[in-house]
Amino acid sequence: MKYIFVTGGVVSSLGKGLAAASIGTLLEHRGLSTLMQKFDPYLNVDPGTMSPYQHGEVYVLDDGAETDLDLGHYERFTSGVLSRMNNLTSGQVFDAVIKKERRGEYLGKTVQFIPHVTDEIKSRMHQVTLDNPKTDVLITEIGGTVGDMEGLLFIEALRQFALEVGKENVCFIHVTLLPYIKAAGEVKTKPTQQSVAKLRELGIQPDIIICRTEADLDEDNRKKIAMFCNVERKNVVAFRDVAHTIYECPLDLRRDKIDRLVVDRLGLGHTPSPALEAWESFVQRVIHPKHKVSIAVAGKYIELQDAYKSIYESLIHAGAHHDTKVHIIRVEAEAIEDHGARSVIGEVDGILVPGGFGDRGTEGKIRAAQYARENKIPYFGICLGMQIATIEYARNVCGLKKANSTEFDKSTKYPVICLQEEQKGVEDMGATMRLGSSESILFAGTKAADLYNNADRIHERHRHRYELNSDYQERLQEAGLVISSVSAEAGLVEIIELPEHPFYIGAQFHPEFQSKPNHPHPLFSGFVAAALTHSQAR
Ligand code: GLN
Repeated sequence: MKYIFVTGGVVSSLGKGLAAASIGTLLEHRGLSTLMQKFDPYLNVDPGTMSPYQHGEVYVLDDGAETDLDLGHYERFTSGVLSRMNNLTSGQVFDAVIKKERRGEYLGKTVQFIPHVTDEIKSRMHQVTLDNPKTDVLITEIGGTVGDMEGLLFIEALRQFALEVGKENVCFIHVTLLPYIKAAGEVKTKPTQQSVAKLRELGIQPDIIICRTEADLDEDNRKKIAMFCNVERKNVVAFRDVAHTIYECPLDLRRDKIDRLVVDRLGLGHTPSPALEAWESFVQRVIHPKHKVSIAVAGKYIELQDAYKSIYESLIHAGAHHDTKVHIIRVEAEAIEDHGARSVIGEVDGILVPGGFGDRGTEGKIRAAQYARENKIPYFGICLGMQIATIEYARNVCGLKKANSTEFDKSTKYPVICLQEEQKGVEDMGATMRLGSSESILFAGTKAADLYNNADRIHERHRHRYELNSDYQERLQEAGLVISSVSAEAGLVEIIELPEHPFYIGAQFHPEFQSKPNHPHPLFSGFVAAALTHSQAR
């Protein structure tokens, strides 16, 4: 196996994850089998317990791992299906070391950062190598910025690892920022020089430098960076701010032939230049669509760019499929409580209520669902959004006044959403939800089955504690709510829909974790198609 390590310099939020993912795209389109992973230096075992304000979205994998949102980019930009082995945090590393120490596995030695902690990181690298014998290239992104104290052990582990597997098998890529000083009209290379100097102090000489720039990277600056950072001129690669969509990133990086540089550096032999026609055509459909719809996403972390990342991406995928620009209107659910649904979302072609926790804004979301149902506006509820639709139906159609989820009202008279028995005794918050992919049965004749191409079984990823209460199923069904899918194992409700409505679907799972650029998720695709029909009828 060959290894690429992607580090970041100068500042965070550089698009390091997108750069890594784009390299994955390009190598895969060269016919190489790639696998992507991320090392996160923070002390949380996983991001599952972090607030969206800290971390943005928590991305869930098939095996139930709650991971960094960059893994979402990796799965969308490559064909890889990742596992919990592909996101390593300092929390996991220290947890493993301390457990070993308690078991006496260090045989009386003093347990130290080097070698014991760095060995733990390296052993994970070796394990991933062993587990994936068919992979040509393993791409590992190191979270944080070079120079951060908390990243030091990872960098040191990589330095040692490169020696162990042979430096010729390892390519270090440093992603850095070239700030543009407007008043001087100049692009500055000094922070990059200093960041690379920092990396070299730690024993790592980058092979390739990817320069994030707002302006163009001219020849003088390329030469300057090459000389001061001790890399060949051709290995200084520009990574410009993309104009329209993140899916342009691989195309941008290809301009400086990053894939060729990597292949040459790693001695990967002759591979054809990447066949990117399908990718390019997807990008064209994102940039120049024929139609337009506006979709309100009514949530509670709406001002955060990253809180609903995968949902926004899935809407883009579905939009491109229908040659449609999806104009996303981010709606703070509390605003609906204050101003009413009609005034906040009266003009949209579709309403999406995403997942969430805690009761802030729930009444606003319930009103959004009611407005969509009564006015026949396409509605798509995801996880909490499905629970919200159920509560709304129970209250306003079944007449169960003040029906609620016990998450929001412990003593509600009508707990239409409640905890399953096995969740009741749970004390630890980390990794204790219903997590990951499981099989569900889809009922023929439903709209959901139709969207899934009449499949009778589906596999979708979950992340929730509460469920539709089986005691109320019949009552809801008698009042017209259709249950279109239940879990194969326990018969838990997975999808609800309203047959008389143009599109009113709630999914207990997270379809947004399984949508890719040229393979939109069927529920998203159906939702955007319905929104398009709605907009054309308006
Ligand atoms: N808070 C709800 C639950 O735990 C929904 C979770 C979600 O939307 N991801 O069931």
